[in-house]
Amino acid sequence: SAPRVQRTFAGQGRTADGVHVELLANVADPASAKAAAAAGAEGVGLFRTEFLFLGRPDEPGVDEQTRTYHAVLDAFAGRKVVVRTLDAGADKPLPFLTAEGEPNPALGVRGLRTAALHPDVLERQLEAIAAAAARSDADVWVMAPMVATPDEADRFVARCAAHGLAHAGVMIEVPAAALQARWILEEATFASLGTNDLTQYAMAADRELGALAELSTTWQPAVLRLVAAACEGAHVAERAHEDDRGAQGPRERPVGVCGEAAGDPALAPVLVGLGVTSLSMAPAALGDIAAVLATTTLERCRRLARLALGSRDAWAARQAVRAALPELD
Ligand code: PEP
Ligand code: MG
Repeated sequence: SAPRVQRTFAGQGRTADGVHVELLANVADPASAKAAAAAGAEGVGLFRTEFLFLGRPDEPGVDEQTRTYHAVLDAFAGRKVVVRTLDAGADKPLPFLTAEGEPNPALGVRGLRTAALHPDVLERQLEAIAAAAARSDADVWVMAPMVATPDEADRFVARCAAHGLAHAGVMIEVPAAALQARWILEEATFASLGTNDLTQYAMAADRELGALAELSTTWQPAVLRLVAAACEGAHVAERAHEDDRGAQGPRERPVGVCGEAAGDPALAPVLVGLGVTSLSMAPAALGDIAAVLATTTLERCRRLARLALGSRDAWAARQAVRAALPELD
């Protein structure tokens, strides 16, 4: 028989001692979703829906949205697809949604905050996501960008529930949300750490400015502490409900990472050691991340996490972890 085509990665991400770490893809449209499926991604950890909205004068209609979302879901039948609702504003301004002349757009009305001023745009998007989900076999999860408070998270989950979308979560990319994850994950059923923005806001360093690249890295121990705090908050939220659930077992509140950090082979095991259970990245990175996890036990990931957290700065954290992972050289 013909030789099988070699894939970048296939199967499941696992540590050396067999702990499953979901290896997911970041996608933006049907074409990138198909490419991610061909690369062997277990699912989609971040579908950036704003790409359908960018560069046009007005909002795409519900039917057009439904068709595009369905085409992405179709590439991942039977698998998980995390659809992020519109993340407009700041680096992704939209003429029909983004306020002009905000002095600090990164701190302005962006992400889920736009839904307070334009609730109809979110409603139509949720309607389209629900319609696409109803026609597909994918396991559809929905999440909101730029959530800062438990109230914002609760309101979003309620809107998703009204559309029959039961798996509703939030991105944690604002430091306050990382610190309040315990309450944010009362109603929200999962969280995904947007380490690009989380780093920008923790370090007060514009992610677009090359001049600040040394500050803008998730290797900053202060950023890793926020990751750890979010994972700990999720565990507290899980345990708080163990008693009421009894025989049904503990409530799950998985925390993933969908920022660039997830695709860094030295940082990925650190994130797993901090308590992250899925990593979503550019498909090209899947093979390298699968390989490093396959040689690293969960205990070793935790040791790497302690090394990074205990370091004085980003440079030292990266040095210490790289020295403890000689197989990456
Ligand atoms: C992030 O902020 O890390 C993220 C994944 O979202 P985006 O890069 O689209 O802002
Ligand atoms: Mg972001």
